[in-house]
Amino acid sequence: MDAPQEKTPDRTGERMNLVRVALDVPLHRHFDYLAPSGDPPTPADIGRRIRVPFGTRARIGIIVDLPAHSDIAPAQLKPAEAILRDLPPLPPDWFRLCEFCAAYYQVPPGEVMLSTLPAGLRRVDPPRARTPKAPARPPAAQAAPPLTAEQEAALAVIDAHAGRGFHAYLLHGVTGSGKTEVYLRLIERALAAGRQALLLVPEINLTPQLEARVAERFPAAGLVSLHSELTEAARARNWRAAFAGQARIVLGTRLAVFTPLPELGLIVVDEEHDPSFKQQDGMRYSARDVAVFRARERGIPIVLGSATPSLESWANATDARARGRYTLLTLRGRAVENARLPAVQRIDTRLEKLQDGLSGALLAGIGKRLARGEQSLVFLNRRGYAPVLACAACGWASRCTRCAANLVLHLADRRLRCHHCGLEQRIPKACPSCGNQDILPFGRGTQRLEEVLAAHFPQARILRVDRDSAKSRKQWEALLERIHGGEADILVGTQMLAKGHDFPRLTLVGVVGADAALHAADWRAPERLFAQLMQVAGRAGRAELAGEVLIQTQFPEHPLYAALVRHDYPAFAAQQLAERAQAGFPPYAYQAMLRAEAQHMAEAIAFLATARAWPEAAAHGDVLLYDPVPMRMARRANYERAQLLAESPSRQALQRFLAGWREAIEAIRAPARLRWHLEVDPLEF
Ligand code: ADP
Ligand code: ZN
Ligand code: ZN
Repeated sequence: MDAPQEKTPDRTGERMNLVRVALDVPLHRHFDYLAPSGDPPTPADIGRRIRVPFGTRARIGIIVDLPAHSDIAPAQLKPAEAILRDLPPLPPDWFRLCEFCAAYYQVPPGEVMLSTLPAGLRRVDPPRARTPKAPARPPAAQAAPPLTAEQEAALAVIDAHAGRGFHAYLLHGVTGSGKTEVYLRLIERALAAGRQALLLVPEINLTPQLEARVAERFPAAGLVSLHSELTEAARARNWRAAFAGQARIVLGTRLAVFTPLPELGLIVVDEEHDPSFKQQDGMRYSARDVAVFRARERGIPIVLGSATPSLESWANATDARARGRYTLLTLRGRAVENARLPAVQRIDTRLEKLQDGLSGALLAGIGKRLARGEQSLVFLNRRGYAPVLACAACGWASRCTRCAANLVLHLADRRLRCHHCGLEQRIPKACPSCGNQDILPFGRGTQRLEEVLAAHFPQARILRVDRDSAKSRKQWEALLERIHGGEADILVGTQMLAKGHDFPRLTLVGVVGADAALHAADWRAPERLFAQLMQVAGRAGRAELAGEVLIQTQFPEHPLYAALVRHDYPAFAAQQLAERAQAGFPPYAYQAMLRAEAQHMAEAIAFLATARAWPEAAAHGDVLLYDPVPMRMARRANYERAQLLAESPSRQALQRFLAGWREAIEAIRAPARLRWHLEVDPLEF
């Protein structure tokens, strides 16, 4: 009972001017200050930023309350420096969103609140904002095509619930089935109802086409985008426009899920299965899951779209145990008339001697496309020239000295490079171990594949697309332009090429080196592989030209490939979910991972063992704590790494456990160089 306390005047007998402030510090509490002198705050200042002294410097915080009383002795309270009133106060629903994330992901609330603001608004000395150019007069809106019957049906289901609060939909349809058109119609309805729409995409880098398409359809909606490649000023400007309600549509990557939107009426998460929605450092949150929470909290519809939904979402929509948490909407065909799904074939690589890793059928297929002036794409999800340089005489291999990983050979810039910590070395002329001059690249990456294809097709124009050739958005857009300008006959690339692009002349996709993921130790690997292959297959034959997909494999009978040949995601998902249920893996269990990194493995393990021995864990009988184990990549950037899995059949039980456990872990006295973090709903093991 703390109600009487509020009414009791403090010892001085008069109400003190106190502000309670959220700060971006690693402590799970807020901080009390005296109001700035001569500037008493009013309740309207709750949600405004404030400059306060903290330690030896000033910081920007957010006012979360004007308490009548503080637990801090009055003499210890410091005055705040200034309340910043350049923006309206952040609204209550935004606070609830941040507080939910803080509690769910075990992150300090101040860290959530401040880290989701644009950097410019967190600065003590913000750069002077330039007045933005007046927006150009909007061109006439691009007309919408008449809907297909399937699109009509999907929209009818959503319309039937319209205005009735929260509802989650899973829109399942292959690439080109017209999901984006459904989003656009829903956005249109939201705009007409005077609401804002939030459209989340996994990587804005890969979606300039979507941005253009939305802007063309709704030229007057003040579309803004929010992602990490914007300049600080542009990001702050766009964020303000969204917050002020001027921007009626916000298109953004995961962090955009936290944008305050006063009139939010619709959330769409495109490619909802994409791992990029998961932040892998700092606050390790899933923007898709946060979006669902936000929609529920705001009482609005949310649409999750994908050709290959995450198994979590698929179970929510189809598993009897989920009792229809999500409504499944399906688009079966392709939206463009006559466009058909590509024919997928497996090439059994056990039956022939490959030429530089390529089968006769794939080489013949590429040759045929060249002769017809069509494009081919060869997909290999491994960049670099070769994954390792090795000596056959003594067994030496190029290893990273800082990680438990190989150094990848990059012949293009004559380097050995670690893809985990960035370590680089020159390519040795001879084996560093035995002096053998004949050290050889082992295995194949995109650079080597490019070389091989150039040797087979000297007349072809070959373009490699991976994170080495498209480091920035600018480089990526330049590459796209060349592809669209018809400057490439053969594309070689990683999953970068697989996402969201229309290449009208592309009629052949070859897949090489995919088998590794079938038998990976990570039990999510097949889910990711299936999604990638569906996506890359979806590149073939988008327009009038029929497409063909050739998968080179040593396991042609594998059920994953069998489902792919039939374009049968539901069958694949059912098989995977059955396995997961059998093994007690998510989505049939809820997990959190405690990870520790230290100079020595023994320290990391000992820390986790202490955490595991938390006496109160026994009171949480429905939470299982596994043994601490070294991580699969046991060493990275000179840290040895270990992890401890906590698991429960109940999300609520796990949440109750985590709150107390996290506090107990914080109290463990750890060695100086030990780092640890807790990840809720981890995706990678
Ligand atoms: P997805 O988002 O599922 O990949 P899109 O919405 O981008 O699918 O549609 C694929 C292609 O079909 C696009 O070129 C789009 O303009 C076109 N399209 C979508 N819906 C229709 C429709 N109802 N009539 C004609 N073309 C359509
Ligand atoms: Zn050697
Ligand atoms: Zn390394």
